[in-house]
Amino acid sequence: MAAKPSGPVRSGPMQVGNLEVDVVVVPERSGVRLTVERDARITATVPAGLDSALLVDAVKGRRGWIYDKLESRVEDAALRPVKQFVTGEGFLYLGRNYRLKITDEAPVPVGLVRGRMLLRRDCLDRAQDELIVWYRHRGGAWLPKRAESWAQRMQAPLENIVVRRLGYRWGSCNRNGGVNIHWATMQLPAHLVDYVLVHELAHLQKRDHSAEFWSIVARAMPDYQQRRARLDRLGAVLWLPEGAQQ
Ligand SMILES: [Zn+2]
Repeated sequence: MAAKPSGPVRSGPMQVGNLEVDVVVVPERSGVRLTVERDARITATVPAGLDSALLVDAVKGRRGWIYDKLESRVEDAALRPVKQFVTGEGFLYLGRNYRLKITDEAPVPVGLVRGRMLLRRDCLDRAQDELIVWYRHRGGAWLPKRAESWAQRMQAPLENIVVRRLGYRWGSCNRNGGVNIHWATMQLPAHLVDYVLVHELAHLQKRDHSAEFWSIVARAMPDYQQRRARLDRLGAVLWLPEGAQQ
C-alpha cells in the first residue's frame, strides 16, 4: 500500500488514486478549489503550505462530482462539429452562419464577401490554419474598440488585447493589463463575446473568482448569469479543431 502523502503540497502534477490532479499553489488562496477543464484536466488551486493529506481528502471527498464533470466533458467533445472544407459548409462569425465557397480567384486565402466565406482553392491543403488566421485577423480588428468601451465603463486597466490560440479557455489576462481572447470566441454572438471580455476585464481588477470578482462582473453586466449559461452550452458545440487548441 502506498504511503499516505504528507508535507506541504507543491505546484505540479499529483496522483490521487487513479486521478491525476494539476496542483497550482496560489499564496493568497484560503481553501482548495477543484476544477475540471474542458480537456478533462483536473486542476486544484490551493493555498501555500497546505498539507498534501488535506488535498487528497478534498479530492476524494468530491470524487463523485469530478466523475460527473469528466463524463460531461467527454460528451462535449463528441458534440463538437468536424468541418469539411467544401462549398456549402457553414462557419460562424459573431453568431451568424456563413456558407463556405471554394473559389479559384481571390486576393486573400479567406475572406467574407457578400455573406459568403470564400476560401481560395490553392489554400485547401492548409484550410484549417487559414481560417484560424482569418478569425484572428477579424477578431483583432473588431475586439479592441469593443474591449476599450467596456474597460472604460468598468474602469479596468486594459493595456492591450490579443486574439490567439488559448487552449480550452475563452480568455485570459496578465498582470500588465493584457487580455487574450481565443480565436474560437469570434464564432460566438457579440453579446457572449462581451461576457468573455467583461470576465477578463474584471480579472484585471480581481484575479480570483471571489464574491468580489462576481460583483464587479454583475455591476458591468447585470444579466451575466444568463450569458454565462448560454456560453457554457454554445461554447461546447463551437468549432475547435483537434490540434488547433494550443
Ligand atoms: Zn475567470
